[in-house]
Amino acid sequence: MSFFAELGLAEPILRALEAKGYNDPTPIQRQAIPALLEGRDLLGIAQTGTGKTAAFALPSLHRLAANPIERKPASCRMLILSPTRELAAQIADNIEGYAKYLKISVACVFGGVPISKQARRLVPGIDILVATPGRLLDLIDNRALTLGRTEIFVLDEADQMMDLGFIHALKRVANLLPKTRQSLFFSATMPKAIEDLGKQFIVNPVRVEVAPNSTTAERVEQYVTFVNQAEKQALLTLRIRNLLETKEMDRALVFTRTKHGADRVVRHLTSAGIEARAIHGNKSQAQRTAALDAFRQGSCPVLIATDIAARGIDVSGVSHVFNYELPNVPEQYVHRIGRTARAGADGIAMSFCAPDEKPYLKDIERLTRLKVDTMPLPENFMAEAAKLPAPSRKPAEEERDARHDARAQRGNGGRGGNGQSRGGGGGGQSHGGRAQGRDGRPRDVSPRQEQRDGERGNDRGPVRNPLGEGGDKPRTFRPRGGGAPGVGAHRNKVRRAS
Ligand code: AMP
Repeated sequence: MSFFAELGLAEPILRALEAKGYNDPTPIQRQAIPALLEGRDLLGIAQTGTGKTAAFALPSLHRLAANPIERKPASCRMLILSPTRELAAQIADNIEGYAKYLKISVACVFGGVPISKQARRLVPGIDILVATPGRLLDLIDNRALTLGRTEIFVLDEADQMMDLGFIHALKRVANLLPKTRQSLFFSATMPKAIEDLGKQFIVNPVRVEVAPNSTTAERVEQYVTFVNQAEKQALLTLRIRNLLETKEMDRALVFTRTKHGADRVVRHLTSAGIEARAIHGNKSQAQRTAALDAFRQGSCPVLIATDIAARGIDVSGVSHVFNYELPNVPEQYVHRIGRTARAGADGIAMSFCAPDEKPYLKDIERLTRLKVDTMPLPENFMAEAAKLPAPSRKPAEEERDARHDARAQRGNGGRGGNGQSRGGGGGGQSHGGRAQGRDGRPRDVSPRQEQRDGERGNDRGPVRNPLGEGGDKPRTFRPRGGGAPGVGAHRNKVRRAS
């Protein structure tokens, strides 16, 4: 009898797991499922890729199915909050798979797409709703949803939520949930600020923690090449071209620190005849979905991503991860290279380290307790680099970049966000990263600023008090129908300006 059967999970769930070929639980599933079946709250320290979704979805499905109640309009029985659209869609997809043989409805809502269709889907009520915080609150403000009947609440990737400035949105959601409920709180890291946030959601939780970060790293072959920032692009192009020619690479994920950096890399690779797309918060939802689909299906072998956009994305067959810039938070490095070691597969991670990024490399090696092997520059690097075609330049785009860069350089000024850093910042990790300017010279950009700017994209993102500080006043915004048009128009203006 399988572990899942021994737990007494409902037969339709076991059938779905069999169809998926899950025989053994992952460590987090082994630890979490029994307690969740008993209805306990849970504090989970785990990253995506550990089987976390099934860990919370399977017992929840079991409990919802065991206690069928009539659906109430504009309500949900289970709410899962996720920081990014892609992760929300992925969670909903997974749950639909696990619920295939149950009469349980699943919906996913996020920004960047019309709200009306999502609101219509909620009219009869839904069993399981996966949402990003901004769109969730929009739907609530539109009276398309109430949370008063939520039985199970899951907050996923809490540290990422904090980094993205969703704190006020989360507190607001917490106030709208019924007092009696089951709550699950997951985070990849658990510094004090996150734990304190968790206390607002969970009561007497079981605590589960899986695989310390470094174990993922051990499965990945890792190399670092020391190279000047201005030469990184040529190095990337030559490496990818070579790996494609020798058929050593199936799919590569390239991480850049900034959205604009990601676009630049795409332009360079494309000019060199390498199919590449970017995924980040400045892209429309349609572009993000198309890029991810092309990458998943293999028609586009190279995907350039910023950290937030890529967090949690589960694409099999990623053979290589490139760190075009080293992350200044070492855990992020483990997240990134973990994209290539999913479900036990091994992969190769290549990092490009500019002179001013050496302290980041030290932090990474300290965290993973591994020494990253050095890979020298390719032979004849300078000569080969000189032969590469110049990228297509789009003047308007370059100009926009420059304006953005200037804003980023000024720091967080004018943006009333919370500048809380994961784990309270700390040491050398809290300063801004180095990104490449138009002229190829490195310059300072705050990664957190970049995240806040970028990943919100069309998703409205954190709810802010339009008047600036103080954060969490109920909003008067009533988009489309109902409410005074002037109020909505004002809100829209404020939102665009923020
Ligand atoms: P997650 O952390 O939920 O994103 O899961 C990571 C990957 O592991 C997904 O592709 C899941 O389909 C897969 N997975 C989850 N649980 C199991 C299991 N018990 N056996 C095999 N694969 C699993």
